[in-house]
Amino acid sequence: MQAYSKDELKRSIEDYVKVLYRKGVSEASKKQIFQAVAYSVKDLIIEQWMETHRVYEEEDVKTVYYLSMEFLMGRALGNNIINLKTNKVVEETLRELGLKLEDVEEEEPDPALGNGGLGRLAACFLESLSTLGYPVIGCGIRYKYGMFEQKIENGYQMEVPDDWLRDGNPFEMKQEEAAVIVKFGGYVRMTKDENGREKYIQENYSPVRAVPYDLPIVGYSNHVVNSLRIWDAEAIDHFNLDSFDKGDYLKAVEQQNLARSICEVLYPNDNHYAGKELRLKQQYFFVSASVQRAVLKYMEKHEDIRQLPEKVIFQLNDTHPSVTVAELMRILLDDYDLSWDEAWEVTTKTCAYTNHTIMSEALEKWPIDLFAKLLPRIYQIVEEINRRFMNLIHEKYHCNFKKVEKMAIIYNGQIRMANLAIVGSFSVNGVAKLHTEILKNQQLKDFYELTPEKFNNKTNGITQRRFLLHGNPLLANWVTSKIGSEWITHLEHMKKLETYALDPICQKEFMDIKYQNKVRLAEYIKQHNKIEVDPNSIFDVQVKRLHEYKRQLLNIMHVMYLYEELKKNPRMDIVPRTFIFGAKASAGYRRAKAIIKLINSVGEVVNNDKTIGGKIKVVFIENYRVSNAEMIFAAADVSEQISTASKEASGTGNMKFMLNGAITLGTMDGANVEIVEEVGLENAFIFGLSSDEVIKYELEGGYNPKDIYNQDLGIRTIMTHMIDGYYAPVNLDLFREVHNSLLDNFGGERADQFFILKDFRSYVEAQQKVEMAYRNPEWWAKAAILNVANSGKFSSDRTIEEYVEDIWKLEKVTVEL
Ligand SMILES: *Cc1c(COP(=O)(O)O)cnc(C)c1O
Repeated sequence: MQAYSKDELKRSIEDYVKVLYRKGVSEASKKQIFQAVAYSVKDLIIEQWMETHRVYEEEDVKTVYYLSMEFLMGRALGNNIINLKTNKVVEETLRELGLKLEDVEEEEPDPALGNGGLGRLAACFLESLSTLGYPVIGCGIRYKYGMFEQKIENGYQMEVPDDWLRDGNPFEMKQEEAAVIVKFGGYVRMTKDENGREKYIQENYSPVRAVPYDLPIVGYSNHVVNSLRIWDAEAIDHFNLDSFDKGDYLKAVEQQNLARSICEVLYPNDNHYAGKELRLKQQYFFVSASVQRAVLKYMEKHEDIRQLPEKVIFQLNDTHPSVTVAELMRILLDDYDLSWDEAWEVTTKTCAYTNHTIMSEALEKWPIDLFAKLLPRIYQIVEEINRRFMNLIHEKYHCNFKKVEKMAIIYNGQIRMANLAIVGSFSVNGVAKLHTEILKNQQLKDFYELTPEKFNNKTNGITQRRFLLHGNPLLANWVTSKIGSEWITHLEHMKKLETYALDPICQKEFMDIKYQNKVRLAEYIKQHNKIEVDPNSIFDVQVKRLHEYKRQLLNIMHVMYLYEELKKNPRMDIVPRTFIFGAKASAGYRRAKAIIKLINSVGEVVNNDKTIGGKIKVVFIENYRVSNAEMIFAAADVSEQISTASKEASGTGNMKFMLNGAITLGTMDGANVEIVEEVGLENAFIFGLSSDEVIKYELEGGYNPKDIYNQDLGIRTIMTHMIDGYYAPVNLDLFREVHNSLLDNFGGERADQFFILKDFRSYVEAQQKVEMAYRNPEWWAKAAILNVANSGKFSSDRTIEEYVEDIWKLEKVTVEL
């Protein structure tokens, strides 16, 4: 079937409710209706999915395997029906059944197999690849528990497991016949084959069966459906086990436990490496399964494994899948008998690596003993890659020890996964201009000097289909009414909006839409936080993972400062402001959790202080995730992008805000630099140290925040209020660590390592400019519209075209039904 009429869809929903739940539509719960609608939509997708596969087979296409530990997909139903262009039919059919599409969409669990930006980027990329008609398989892990659900209790974050598969996932398809075996542990035995060639055989290992589940990635209105392939681990059937035959009962149970543990849970760390053995198991598990499958698939149609790079690319999303380099070498050497040089040639033409951060705490390193015990054959290969690479470095730099220290893959008892990825890839890319420059000139300088041709920039992007067309229907319709609908697949067409930015009628229409979106968010806040916020106030929003480098602390300290000013002068004339936060902290990140508590404690005091007449409000939105993010971006006036310059590799939240007509208040960091390049400095609020200044201070060992503290009464007052019970009457120690971290060096950590006090006054000034600007509604409307008009560069469609052109060299396909 190609499309539903309303009658056909109604019948299909009725049939599914009956078959799945033994009920009629009127008796079914909303959740059951969601399932029935989703299955009905899947029936449409299936035709296109099969046809896409057929075309791929027939044309023997080159495919990119996008390897990522994380895919932060968000709900599928709403976007699938938009991309199938069947949303109107679904909406009307449901209305006739007495249901609202919005409410049915709300019943879908929000698949959160990712932490933040990195996982969301992977999701945007897959959607863009389908929309542009390029063959991709997203490869990841089917975590039983995704990103935890955040509950705020008494101002503290609580983590609740996210049992997203509880009711089953109607869109997924288990692919039994594509299962493969992944081997852990044991030892390597060396023998010689009949030609006297050395053979390496892993023995006495623990096998795990990797079974893929495919999820459809529907392109916009083009019949292309790619797959996200997430792997689940199963124990090998007992009766096929050697060890079980020999009566090794304990070994069989161990293998059950290994399989059960691997895909159990997503590590909730964003930009931070924890070094847990289970994490390495997860990495090798999904990499080995994905690479094995890709090679088997290639060999179905081809004779010569040495031509693999003509049809296959492995794109490594950060260092998490770096073991791909060694796993592909293993397969080529051990299963296909290539020589080392042949295998290395194939590997280094197939792998490409994306770097996502310069922060040292995010760099993955594995202790040799742990790595060698878990992956004995892979370890041998990494050793040999390192030995040969070190020979090259010694030769080229005449035993320069500094070079060895920086570039070695194995060093100081550890395996450095970033170095493995760089050496084993033909492309190394950063994710924004500034970030790539820092990689080339600082972090990866030595590698850049050795192989400059590998390095390139791919500024991140976002999909406008989700973050405008789906998330902000009012604005999407308004834009289409002005400039037509080409922006949906060609975001650069937004530029045509510029001519409307100065038109008073358009300004009013635009601000009315923003107002309605603010009303929608205010209702959500009323319902979830029991706080009344005024949709006429400035909605000043910072939503992203809680991390010290992102500086939510700077934001809330400005709120504390403003509150102090209001207390001194309650009649102070300010534009009412609603400060909105949303952020999950990694479960083990103590200081991040203290900052959440601080935000909520400040909110508690400020929101309930009658003497300030409701001029400022602080709202912490619980459980920030893709589904509520869409609504939050639509309602924002101010986009807080205030990371310490040089620390945020790109940011993509900044782009979603811009697309929805919020104005950036930010530092010259990550993609903010390019946002300002596009929209103009005059249409953003920029403050703070530059990345060069930050890096210079860091090379000098930091700066002395006490000088600022001693001179600045305003700063001293709010800092004192962190520890004198002003916001924490019961426990004066709650925020003491946060307070002290701004003033004292501690355990190898510099005082105020993220330059909060250093940037504070500059931030306050920028905030005053925001306030002044908002008093001029014409100016604000114009600047906001210009932000939308100049967001074209930040479509992930543009990013993907650059990957295709410079790295992947894919051909576009067309799929007809
Ligand atoms: C876009 C997005 C992010 C990334 O936001 P940054 O501000 O770039 O860190 C994180 N989480 C969700 C749910 C997102 O949609």
